[in-house]
Amino acid sequence: MIEIIGRAVVGEKVSLFSEVEKMGHEQVVICNDNETGLKAIIAIHNTVLGPAMGGTRMWSYATDEEAWTDALRLSRGMTLKNSIAGLNLGGGKAVIIGDAAKLKNEALMRRFGKFVNSLGGKYWTAEDVNMSTRDMEYIRMETPYVTGMPESRGGGGDPSPVTAYGVYMGMKAASKKTFGSESLEGKNVMVQGVGNVGTYLVDYLKKENAKIFISDFSENKLKHVSEKYGATVVPMEEVYNVNCDIYAPCALGATLNDQNIASLKCRVVAGGANNQLLDEKRHGEMLVERDIVYAPDFLINGGGITNCYFEYTGDYNRSSVMTQTERIYDTTLKVLNHAEENNSTPQQSAIDIALERIEKIGKIKISL
Ligand code: NAD
Repeated sequence: MIEIIGRAVVGEKVSLFSEVEKMGHEQVVICNDNETGLKAIIAIHNTVLGPAMGGTRMWSYATDEEAWTDALRLSRGMTLKNSIAGLNLGGGKAVIIGDAAKLKNEALMRRFGKFVNSLGGKYWTAEDVNMSTRDMEYIRMETPYVTGMPESRGGGGDPSPVTAYGVYMGMKAASKKTFGSESLEGKNVMVQGVGNVGTYLVDYLKKENAKIFISDFSENKLKHVSEKYGATVVPMEEVYNVNCDIYAPCALGATLNDQNIASLKCRVVAGGANNQLLDEKRHGEMLVERDIVYAPDFLINGGGITNCYFEYTGDYNRSSVMTQTERIYDTTLKVLNHAEENNSTPQQSAIDIALERIEKIGKIKISL
């Protein structure tokens, strides 16, 4: 059985090979260009199912170690996400170190594109934090190994609506398991973060007549979403105390930690944010102990990468993307049942199912 271990925590001191060895990365590339100031890391975790795909994130990391750990951890997450989504893609991710507002320009993006190109298609990129479709256009000038291109250029455009649809499917499946019905009508849903994904999710919830609670830093976004959808605004520090049926983290990671899990009053957690569990094992178990059903993030937020996948195949059409994303409903039920039957956590079951696919498909690819 393949083993993938994800112990690295941002901020931890790490040695060059220790984490790579533990998590089982195939290749990690350090990219440097003095002329443009580009400093990037491309992490290729696993290419058994296909080329490694995962977005590029630009961030002002406090230390190089933080960037290194983020690249390793995120690329491992993409291996699992792509596998459980049923895509023929491996897992990879890139991080560019620096303040996007100050450093990002055409030359830097194109220089990064040259590095992506140098990998000959082993790694395919797309947008992540602080990256736009415009950046993908610059990267495309230097390499064909890029997705997330604007619709005007034949690409899949902004993946957020598709991500939100997958989250919605995962939420309905978790509700079916927990409440006996997939209907969200009348359910109290706390959406943390009404950015791209959160707002599209609110739209789906509204159509089903859920009672929606929202929280965000941005007063403008709160005003817009509360007025448009009649959602109730909750102060950020109150999110974990809200009496609700479903908590949907759609802002930041690691909100499922000792303190917050102890406060939660919901029965289901299902949201789009990446890496919601601060510690996969410990906090996965803590949710089970608290009788809270957790729909694993990397499973239910796979709609965005599915959008990129269809672009990569050269056969993009929105209807195929939505059909594939809809399968998240069945997979979520499968994961939740697997966890129950195996006395496991949903997170561990989702990991096991993702790894099993890699192992099985890896074997059929071996030519005799
Ligand atoms: P976004 O930046 O558009 O939205 C995030 C929102 O969260 C912003 O409005 C921000 O103000 C708010 N926020 C930040 N900290 C907060 C806090 N403490 N409390 C409440 N609100 C807070 O990002 P997005 O594209 O909507 O992505 C949201 C999450 O989903 C991220 O974790 C992202 O990695 C993940 N994700 C996104 C996609 C996608 O297709 N966009 C795909 C997979 C995963």
